[in-house]
Amino acid sequence: MEERGQRSNRRLVLVPCPFQGHITPMLNLGSLLHSKGFSIVIAHTNFNHPDPSGFPNFTFASIPDCLPKDVLSSGDAAALFASLNTNCEGPLYQVLSDMVEKDGATENKISCVIYDTLMYSHYMKLPSMALRTGSISNQLVFSELPQLRKEGYFPSKEPMMQLIATILDIRTSSAILWNTADCLEKQLSNQLQKQYSVPFFLLGPLHKVAPASSTSILEEETDCLLWLDKQADDSVVYVSLGSMVSMDEGEFAETAWGLANSGQPFLWVVRPGSVRGSEWIELLPGGFKEATQETGCLVRWAPQKDVLAHRAVGGFWTHCGWNSTLESISEGVPMICRPCFMDQNVNARYLCHVWRVGLELEGDLDQKEIEQAVRRLMVEEEGKEMRLRAAAFKDQIELSIRKGGSSHAAIEELVNLIISL
Ligand code: UDP
Repeated sequence: MEERGQRSNRRLVLVPCPFQGHITPMLNLGSLLHSKGFSIVIAHTNFNHPDPSGFPNFTFASIPDCLPKDVLSSGDAAALFASLNTNCEGPLYQVLSDMVEKDGATENKISCVIYDTLMYSHYMKLPSMALRTGSISNQLVFSELPQLRKEGYFPSKEPMMQLIATILDIRTSSAILWNTADCLEKQLSNQLQKQYSVPFFLLGPLHKVAPASSTSILEEETDCLLWLDKQADDSVVYVSLGSMVSMDEGEFAETAWGLANSGQPFLWVVRPGSVRGSEWIELLPGGFKEATQETGCLVRWAPQKDVLAHRAVGGFWTHCGWNSTLESISEGVPMICRPCFMDQNVNARYLCHVWRVGLELEGDLDQKEIEQAVRRLMVEEEGKEMRLRAAAFKDQIELSIRKGGSSHAAIEELVNLIISL
């Protein structure tokens, strides 16, 4: 068996997809593999590039990308991913060839490229592995979509189907790495594994296994933690719709009054630009600020993992992105689920109907229904039961990442596989 100290001349090139929900798990994976002795290179686009200052032990290699402005502002995720890949393929190939050439005959060679499945360049002839940053349940649903579409049940646009085909196609990878845990998705993993000939590694939740230093693209407003310190245990509802979801002025006003009238303290992330037609909170309805001086705290971007781990936070109104889902379950925080697109709908279904740690807010946003949902989650018996179930998941997740746990074992197996490539 190779000694840990010898692994520093084994270089792993990690290729994240440049969006917050994808960058975070990839950097966490990098920290995990660095702790196992590997050298880590992050090959990143200039668009949404990660902040290297928190990762002094990593090498950062920039891929000149040149994303057209019209694609960036279109809001069409499928077109954006397609354009990203078309534009990055050549430059990324160049970055890798330069590295290989520089390595020459030395020992310090690239052992493996670990790429986000949305970054589908050909990785020369180097060994590679795919990191899926979403849930296994979602991948199972995706794998049925081409057939459903053929039968006329799923009239989706062509770019969306291409995107899904990309996610499903793992090309020449030696393995698929998942940011999930056995206690959440073991059965589904066994089911999906039948469709693939390469091994699966359920390594997560990666933010718990290898908490990297801040992976945020936006600056975190940490003062909100001081505000949380002043609130009672399990009393605050935390509201955040992640890094991509947006809403219109009407939805913003309904959300504002729903939160205000619930009477429950709330910490609300309004990401700049996330309310269409405004920069930040200019479109807040008149009288809202005065009405919520005592109960509300608004920020542009929060240190979400710390917020969810805070004793005062008792519920999370979320868009059900997979990272937010994992971060909430890992802290035993039950959820109000308001999914918008892609995998969020599948995650919401699992949260509400399988794991039963969330309730779904469906249809048009309405302040009365929001108020009711907040009460159901934060004060009623139903919410208490969800909190108990979420707490049980928290315990199971803690066990799975400890020695003897499933994620811990999967990590050891992955390290051995990388060494054998
Ligand atoms: N996040 C954060 N501060 C915020 C809102 C979100 O740090 O105010 C982080 C959150 O912890 C998560 C990521 O942004 O890791 C969002 O990823 P997710 O998969 O939940 O959703 P996406 O942004 O991809 O839709």
